[in-house]
Parts: sequence; structure tokens; C-alpha cells
Amino acid sequence: MPGRRKKKTDEQHIPDRISGGRAGISRQKPALAEFLEKEIRTDSGAFSFVGRETLRETVDHLDEILRLGLPERTVSVLKGTQIGMTTVAIGLALYTVYVHRLNVGYFLPDQDFANRFDDTRVRPAIRRAALAAAMRDGRYRGAASKGLKEFPGPDGSRFLYILGLRDIGNAISLPLDLLIRDEVDDLPPENLRWSNDRLDASKLALTVNLAMGRTPGAGIQAMFEEGDRRVWRVPCHACGAEWALEEHWPDVLREAGVSSEENPNEEERLRLACPACGASLARSAGRWRPGGSEAEAEPLAGHRSYRISQLAVPAVRLERVAAKWRAAGRPGERAKFRCSCLAMPDAGESRPIDAALLNALRAAAPLQMEAAPV
Ligand SMILES: [Zn+2]
Repeated sequence: MPGRRKKKTDEQHIPDRISGGRAGISRQKPALAEFLEKEIRTDSGAFSFVGRETLRETVDHLDEILRLGLPERTVSVLKGTQIGMTTVAIGLALYTVYVHRLNVGYFLPDQDFANRFDDTRVRPAIRRAALAAAMRDGRYRGAASKGLKEFPGPDGSRFLYILGLRDIGNAISLPLDLLIRDEVDDLPPENLRWSNDRLDASKLALTVNLAMGRTPGAGIQAMFEEGDRRVWRVPCHACGAEWALEEHWPDVLREAGVSSEENPNEEERLRLACPACGASLARSAGRWRPGGSEAEAEPLAGHRSYRISQLAVPAVRLERVAAKWRAAGRPGERAKFRCSCLAMPDAGESRPIDAALLNALRAAAPLQMEAAPV
């Protein structure tokens, strides 16, 4: 028998860092994806990745961070609306506190928003009685606080704190391991700093930002740029090109070319097509690719970022996206469409010059900006 082997490799020690050394004796923890499918409910039944294949990599990455205890990570999601990411974030919050026994802050713009969110999103998302029964209204150091959920256990209590960040005057200073910031574009910067300070004592210190972008170069869009800028690229099997669909809207939208007699459902009369050769594209067949060019700044270490448009999520019907596009005639409505559907906040070259813009420019520089003759 050779010399005594080390009981554990360094790698096996990693989970101990986030669980006070108790990981070794606990039962096997379910993966985050499994927890979402088993424990989380949506408006249309149990959570499923069918039609939301795009979200799978983000979920698996978050799972890996928690499982290995990877410290100081950030995941930022620049998203379209209605793609299911908030449901995933609620599931992540419950999973982290219930399965990994860590403290979680779910931060929203204001307290009204937070109170509504608790009643309309968090409680209805819990599918099974065991999880609901594990949670009670919380007290921390003897103080009750609105939005504080306590998960008691033999190793003491862990907390989920749902808080509006605009008014943090009455907030308790609970130390956190995971900070989820939803609709971060709406949060005051000094209060964002307060939220960051909650992570100071954590060995994990994981931050998840998710929001619809409203302002190019600020908020979640800036966070996306700071990270490794992953975009969902869909391959064309006919010509071999790969497309980020949102960058080529509306060129990727085509009539399916089938008569309405045969195909009365209008949804099927639309399809996504390769802008180069016209062949049909299957959005669920896409892959995550790092975006950006070599000329751009290096992504910050440990910061993974995703842009997820409605076009990347088959659960959002193409007909709905097309109908919103048709209804968005004015420049302001087009800009809103780009934010909420395409996840591409953009006030730059895509903004048409309209009368309001010309008037504003004239007011700012009257000598240079005479009205053009008609
Ligand atoms: Zn093609």
C-alpha cells in the first residue's frame, strides 16, 4: 500500500466553501434545471424548456456556479419581454435558498413593485406543497421586514428577501450570497451600491442582472457589453450562414408562401428565413456564440452576458411579434418594439429623423438648422 492518499482533492473541497462543510453529508442536490421543471409553475402549467431551449445554457451556467461554489461571478441578461426569464430568476431564487441553503436578495425597482411581485409572481410560481410549507414570513435579528421569507432548517434559517430598491430606508442589512436585480435600468445607482455591499461577507457573491434594455450604453445594455456578449445565432442549413435574428429584423420575416385555404392559421403563413438565400430557419436550432468584435474591449473576467430576444424563443409566437411590428408605425413605437421584442435598445442610426427631432435640433442650434424647403 503506497503512502496515505489525501482524503479529498482540492476540487472536492470547493462545495464546502459555500455550505459550511455540510455538503458532504447532505443528499444529492437536484440540478437547477430539474428543480425548475419539478417545482416551478407558469401561467400555462409546469415550467418546461420546450420552446425555451435558448434559456437552457444560462440555467446550466448558474447551476455550475452554485454547484462548484465559483466565487464573484456575474450573469447579465439583456432580454425581450415574455421570454420566461423572470420565471427562471424566481426559480433560481427559490432553488438557491431552499436547496443550497444560501441567502438570496431579489431586488426590484420599488416597494409597490416588490409587494405585487411577491403576490403575483413568487407565490403562484410555487408548484408543490413541500416547498410552500418550507417558507414563512421572516424575522432577522428579531426584526420583521416586508418581503422577507424565512426558510428554517436544522442548520439555522436562510432568507429570501424581496425588496424594492428605490426606498431602502427601512431595509434590513441582511448579508446575501446571491443578488438578483430585476429591471435594473430603473434602479438608482447609489442604491445599486447598497445592494452590492450585501454580498461583502459571501464566499459565493453571485450577481444576476436581468432587464429589458431601454437606453443604449446604460443599464443592462452596458452590463451586456461588459460581459462576454453572447448572442443566439441560428444556422442556415442551405447556405451555411449564421444569423442573430434580431440584428436582421424585419429581413428575416417572410410569408410562408402557402395559400390560406390550405393553411388557415395565420401563424403558419409566416416564417423566419435566411436573409442571404431565403431558406427557412429554425430558431430552436440556434447556438450561443460570443458576440462583439476583437476591436471592442475585453469582457470583464467572470462576467457572462446574454442577449435574448423574443425571436430566439419559439414559445413567443412569430405572429405576435409580426403583429406588434406592423402596429408600431411611429419612430417611438419602433424604438419600443426594438427594446421589448428584439432586446436591442437603439437610439442611434436606426432612429429615423422625424419632425420632433428636427424641431429639437432647431431649438438647440437655430442658425444652422433652418427648415428645409419642401
Ligand atoms: Zn441561407
